[in-house]
Amino acid sequence: MRLANLAGRSTIVTNDGLIDVATSSQGAFSASVDKCIGQLDKLQKWFETAQPQVGDALTPEELFGDPRLGPVVTSPQQIFAIGINYRHHAEEMGRALPEEPMVFTKFISALCGPNDELPVPSATTDFEVELVVIIGASARNVLEENALNAVAGYCVGQDFSERTLQMKGTPAQFSLAKSFRHFMPIGPWLTTADEITNPNKLSIRCGVNGVEYQNSNTDDMVFGVARLVSYLSNIVELRPGDVIFTGSPHGVGVAQTPPLFLKPGDRIVSEIQGLGKIENLAV
Ligand code: ZN
Repeated sequence: MRLANLAGRSTIVTNDGLIDVATSSQGAFSASVDKCIGQLDKLQKWFETAQPQVGDALTPEELFGDPRLGPVVTSPQQIFAIGINYRHHAEEMGRALPEEPMVFTKFISALCGPNDELPVPSATTDFEVELVVIIGASARNVLEENALNAVAGYCVGQDFSERTLQMKGTPAQFSLAKSFRHFMPIGPWLTTADEITNPNKLSIRCGVNGVEYQNSNTDDMVFGVARLVSYLSNIVELRPGDVIFTGSPHGVGVAQTPPLFLKPGDRIVSEIQGLGKIENLAV
């Protein structure tokens, strides 16, 4: 099932069209995506058994790029991001492979819709396409083999990064440099975990103005999704709606020769196999 936040209302995206969750369920389920993620199993069962009528006949493809799409979760309690989590990205950055996940946060005010504009704050603003995990159930001390049970689903995200601020000072600090306005678009919708057999076997790519710079596969991750969920849950309690940015593959702007940074007018398209694509215009 694909659950979108369309014009602020929880909306199921089918191949035949859209279902407004609150209206079709006569209020049994909320118009808030956050609340729907908290009871995703029930919602999915209702969707499969009640066979609600499709309203607007827009297909998923026609919905890509739609400015009405908001973030698939609007008020996560916690947002985690993982640094240096792809082998080829570690290589291009001249970094050794981490022995444990390198975790930082992106502050919530940077969260935005999948197709929102990106106000460029500097001459060294960079792109990082990432697989984003949305947690569906409270989880503490979960074993790696059970960890994916805590996952509601997945979406595409951009970990936009201001490299000068990020690398200023010793040690480098990440969280602020990755939290400027609209530095965290996610979407286009949540694809539930049951539709993704293996989150660590998905092609992932990002292009700027039609030129592809990132083209990899989530199988290049140092720590896979299950390992990350298990690792985090052994320190903090994960809660429904929590967001995990799982790291960027290689091909980021700062690693290009010469370095390539974003400027107003650039169009950034980020795509993951089975999850769809998001598009941001730099302004
Ligand atoms: Zn990142």
